[in-house]
Amino acid sequence: MKSFAYSRATSNAQALEAARARGTQFLAGGTNLVDLMKYQVEQPVTLVDINHLALTEISQIDGGGISIGAMVRNSDLANHPLVRTNYPLLSQALLSGASPQLRNMASTGGNLMQRTRCYYFNDISFSACNKRAPGSGCAALEGYNRIHAILGQTDKGPTSGETCIATHPSDMCVAMAALQATVEVEGRGGRRTIPFAEFHRLPGNDPSRDTTLREGELITAVTLPSAKFAKNAFYLKARDRNSYAFALISVAAGLEMEGTTIRSAGLAMGGVAHKPWRIPEAEKALAGQLASPENFAHAADILLHGAHGYEHNRFKIELAKQGVVRALTVAAQGTSEVA
Ligand code: SF4
Repeated sequence: MKSFAYSRATSNAQALEAARARGTQFLAGGTNLVDLMKYQVEQPVTLVDINHLALTEISQIDGGGISIGAMVRNSDLANHPLVRTNYPLLSQALLSGASPQLRNMASTGGNLMQRTRCYYFNDISFSACNKRAPGSGCAALEGYNRIHAILGQTDKGPTSGETCIATHPSDMCVAMAALQATVEVEGRGGRRTIPFAEFHRLPGNDPSRDTTLREGELITAVTLPSAKFAKNAFYLKARDRNSYAFALISVAAGLEMEGTTIRSAGLAMGGVAHKPWRIPEAEKALAGQLASPENFAHAADILLHGAHGYEHNRFKIELAKQGVVRALTVAAQGTSEVA
């Protein structure tokens, strides 16, 4: 690990002021950033510790919905009574991720900022990685790409400076995408609210950027709209091990039901793209329809439209389709008690 300066912020203003210096990064739970520093993938000049900011509340907001402070730990969020009761999809997603020890440290804001677990990104002995070294190419395209993207990727060839087939690793963010959360941020230009679908980005022609956060901006909270899917929600995660593993594919499915008819739906996938994958047309296609295998398969087809894989991950396309149908089927049967 390269040496770095460390400072501790006790107010948002202090954190934002410290972030003016070049090479500064915020340190929240550190469960991803510190690993990346050890691998020398990240080499901040200064770490500004934001663990002491007053961003640890979960509170109800006007018009229904809740506000989740950026420093709320993943385990506290998953187990909070308001979340367990009203947003079981979020609880299920959080509890499917990482390990209890990591969830005790990891923060809401930090979870949003997680970087891909692409093997070639995390290992600096591979020189070709456009995300880590812009313009260097992509070792994953013709390498071992089992965990990589099937949707929304840029794949112009292994030497193209634009290629990236990495996936976003978070489970929490997939549930937040389906719930249509918003992200509250504060920067030198003031505060702004970013719709969840616009927070993470596809690689496009700049794979080095994971989010639309501007330089020096601090995530202060995530807001969830009033709960619609409390009674019919299911987070499905397919992975190589039953715990402490990232999703090969995951599906966050929430349904608002009237008898056997779907009034509205929230649907997003993880493990398939550079960001949580949500296509609003798939949700619209379910609205007003019977909760049937045919309608669920139709929504899956819309979500997976245009999917294509590589030597080691083509299986994900069928797995994802089956996963969407399964998640919607279980959600329609009613939310099970969160463990
Ligand atoms: Fe790097 Fe993206 Fe290619 Fe992985 S998929 S090696 S992160 S450019």
